[in-house]
Amino acid sequence: MFVSLVVMEKTRQAIKKTDLKSLTKTGLSEYLASLGLKSYRSDQVFQWLYQKGAASFDEMTNLSKQLRSELQDIADIRTASEFSRQESIDGTVKFLFKLDDPGEFKVEAVLIPDFSDDGTANRITVCVSSQVGCMFGCSFCATGKMGYFRSLTHGEIVDQVYAINRLSEERYGKKITNIVYMGMGEPLHNYKAVMESVRILSDPMGLDIAQRRITVSTVGLARQIKQMAEENLGVNLAISLHAADDEKRNNIMPINESLNLETLEEAVRYYYYKTDKPLTYEYLLFDEFNDTEQDAKNLVKIARWVPSKVNIIMYNNVAGVTLKRVREDRLNRFMKILVKHSVTATVRRSRGDDIDAGCGQLAIREGSERGKSIA
Ligand code: SF4
Repeated sequence: MFVSLVVMEKTRQAIKKTDLKSLTKTGLSEYLASLGLKSYRSDQVFQWLYQKGAASFDEMTNLSKQLRSELQDIADIRTASEFSRQESIDGTVKFLFKLDDPGEFKVEAVLIPDFSDDGTANRITVCVSSQVGCMFGCSFCATGKMGYFRSLTHGEIVDQVYAINRLSEERYGKKITNIVYMGMGEPLHNYKAVMESVRILSDPMGLDIAQRRITVSTVGLARQIKQMAEENLGVNLAISLHAADDEKRNNIMPINESLNLETLEEAVRYYYYKTDKPLTYEYLLFDEFNDTEQDAKNLVKIARWVPSKVNIIMYNNVAGVTLKRVREDRLNRFMKILVKHSVTATVRRSRGDDIDAGCGQLAIREGSERGKSIA
């Protein structure tokens, strides 16, 4: 049965093999079932792909040799593989991953360890990319300046986490603890792949990261925020706000011209109504741009739409961007206003500035005219 189906499949796939990592978990099971394989085989293959990080069928040693060779003929395992890494003095590590496609695209992801006083890494966060470049063109963001090339598959997103997790286990003796979708690209613009990657990374047969330790960020794609509210996932939602009135937001985030703060408010209220989960606003504080008393008061109003907290992020200056990191006295004044109005707000100091790994700094620079690295 299997062999004859494989022959048919081989003919059908004469030009193109099926990338197993582009299939959802259900899709993988259906695909293998269509080849006449029993359901336990699907669990085995899933574990090889997403628990043991197999990059070839040869590694799948609990499948017979014949089955491995048959699969090899009709299917592929496309892997985003580590291309290079840079280490910061603060322990942050920036990875460059090469995607397995003719475009030779590359994306960046970051390992951010937080250490306790005795030097133990207690929180180990991975910041992943979801797209090669980005089409939203926020003026402060290095990725936005690259333009948009393509979205990643969920397999390519998961691969970044697995590769970084291997370093975490080697270096700190434990797996990563948190995942944030805040690297290159707008996660909700690659909605399906991002949601599937969350399911795989939190699957007990995958890396088994609790969904409450996963944060998906968005510039405010209202339709997808509402869609995400229906997913029944336990992940956190973070809104990249960065300005608290439409005029300033239009200035630095072109998406606000079509999806303004009123639209965002409606989506956020819907999300909270459906999920009962507080959300986070990310606010890059720029010197003499969005750091006035009025800006703080506007932010207070937004923070009250639904239960939420605010992360005030210290910007890492990006070459060619006129907006600059806020000065300390202006930061303190801004924070005082938030605290006075009972907003839960935390200042996030930048990590990995010396290797351009901070918020808004991710971009493939070398030979990057078309977003392709020649590093
Ligand atoms: S901040 Fe996010 S949405 Fe805006 S350009 Fe950068 S990656 Fe895209």
